[in-house]
Amino acid sequence: MSDDCIFCAIADGDIPGRIVHETDTTLAFLDANPLAPGHTLVIPKAHHERLNDTPPELAADVMTALREVTIAVEAAVDADASNVAFNNGEAAGQEVPHLHGHVIPRFENDGGHPIHAIAG
Ligand code: IMP
Repeated sequence: MSDDCIFCAIADGDIPGRIVHETDTTLAFLDANPLAPGHTLVIPKAHHERLNDTPPELAADVMTALREVTIAVEAAVDADASNVAFNNGEAAGQEVPHLHGHVIPRFENDGGHPIHAIAG
């Protein structure tokens, strides 16, 4: 838990999140400003700013959760594909300093490039 971290507050239940998936070590919830219907974030419950300072076992848990969430989200919104991505550090566009993977559903001919959008 880190003070003033919005994703820690969601993980602790102190502020509401639209939670779609949970394990002992990870949580997934809908993005508050979705780039596409079903845009979901997957976080470790423990506070780590970025991939570089996340223990390998926990990073593996996040990857496992990302895979399950990607399958479920694509099915839920009938997507053709998805962008699964991390903004890893402020200079890369990371705005919330608590590790999170984005799952952004994509549709044939949707014309968007959210992988660029999430990088700011
Ligand atoms: P970043 O730019 O990779 O750090 O992405 C941060 C993401 O967190 C953005 O897509 C925001 O819309 C999202 N976000 C910020 N605050 C909240 C929240 O309270 N609930 C859900 N998503 C949030």
